[in-house]
Amino acid sequence: MAVDRELPTQEAHDLIALTRDLADAELAPRAAEYEREERFPREVFAKLGEVGLLGLPFGEDVGGGGQPYAVYLQVVEELAMRWASVALGISVHTLACGPVDRFGTTEQREQWLPEMVGGRLLGAYCLSESHAGSDPAAMRSRAVRDGAGWVASGEKAWVTHGGHADFYSTFLRTPDDGDRAISCFHLTPDLAGFGAAPPEQKMGLTGSTTAAMRLDDVAVPAGRMVGEPGRGLAIALSALDSGRLGVSAVAVGLAQSALDVAVAYALEREAFGRRIVDHQGVAFLLADMAAAVESARATYLVAARRKDAGLPYSRQASIAKLVSTDAAMKVTTDAVQVLGGAGYTRDHPAERYMREAKVMQIFEGTNQIQRMVIGKHLAKEATPANG
Ligand SMILES: Cc1cc2nc3c(=O)[nH]c(=O)nc-3n(C[C@H](O)[C@H](O)[C@H](O)COP(=O)(O)OP(=O)(O)OC[C@H]3O[C@@H](n4cnc5c(N)ncnc54)[C@H](O)[C@@H]3O)c2cc1C
Repeated sequence: MAVDRELPTQEAHDLIALTRDLADAELAPRAAEYEREERFPREVFAKLGEVGLLGLPFGEDVGGGGQPYAVYLQVVEELAMRWASVALGISVHTLACGPVDRFGTTEQREQWLPEMVGGRLLGAYCLSESHAGSDPAAMRSRAVRDGAGWVASGEKAWVTHGGHADFYSTFLRTPDDGDRAISCFHLTPDLAGFGAAPPEQKMGLTGSTTAAMRLDDVAVPAGRMVGEPGRGLAIALSALDSGRLGVSAVAVGLAQSALDVAVAYALEREAFGRRIVDHQGVAFLLADMAAAVESARATYLVAARRKDAGLPYSRQASIAKLVSTDAAMKVTTDAVQVLGGAGYTRDHPAERYMREAKVMQIFEGTNQIQRMVIGKHLAKEATPANG
């Protein structure tokens, strides 16, 4: 079902219409096959880059689309309705462009950003390590000064687009800047000793490659550090607030598709002499699914509009990530239920949606970590009742 969107401008309406046409033509026909064959759709990203969908929220001065976050996220949601792996890829690419855009020098921004946000290059974001996921401050991979540059060693885990990306926003310990210092680097696959391990064998989202990236004494040239030395963790965490909104939009798109599949099936399928949608037990299940999808969409839009208005939105971003990914898990599971036995087979996309929803509760901060973030905000922002 086409979602009836409230959009600020005619330009935004045109952008959503273009996204729908492109996603129907390029994403929907490929999704099931590529997911089944665990194929990474590099050519689809090239196409999305050509029409400007890889740089929507970035400034027009650097070749971006200059769109509000609330509009960009609805584009991501439309893409996710057709293919979650690709929509997630756009979100990760946006995340990867963030450090250079927000913390890069004028020279770095001019040199790198036009190609990055213009969509000719695809990005990846290397924060996690195998022993440091929820707690990235425990990372061990490091870059040690060597003349004007650095020598980097270690391994970053779980890198979306690992082995396919053209640039990697990478967070490494820099012991020369202090015992606990972490800094951000712009790494490229041409650097000798920087390469991908074999891809992870995942439960779902198999069209999106995830691989560890090895750093075997990589000579990192001067000028590749992004932001101030030792500010890496702050850069990483600030980028994650907006990244969580991207995951939220992907989860909503996935949940919307699961609802659409369930409604279509309930209108066709008969049991006890009538359509199953005419059994109240099924209609109420569908109603709860619709309520979950619409309320999840509202959470990411609230957070995005705060971001667009220049207001703090970290708490709202964590709420959006938590609410919409939990909603996606529940709605996709219920969609399988509505389809009965058929839902459990690979003849219908419902089982794939359910597998894809699970990881949304895990990456970009698990939903336990989102609760931690929300709890910390509540403790910090609340005025004591007697104060
Ligand atoms: C498909 C996929 C793609 C990914 N892509 C990227 C990427 O592109 N870049 C990147 O940097 N990372 C990426 N990740 C990594 C992802 O962000 C981490 O997996 C995630 O942050 C969780 O870390 P972990 O797997 O080490 O789990 P752990 O941190 O080991 O957590 C295990 C469990 O303990 C819980 N837990 C941990 N600490 C607490 C606490 N304090 N309170 C309560 N519960 C807690 C967690 O919620 C979880 O349930 C990806 C992961 C996957 C699966």
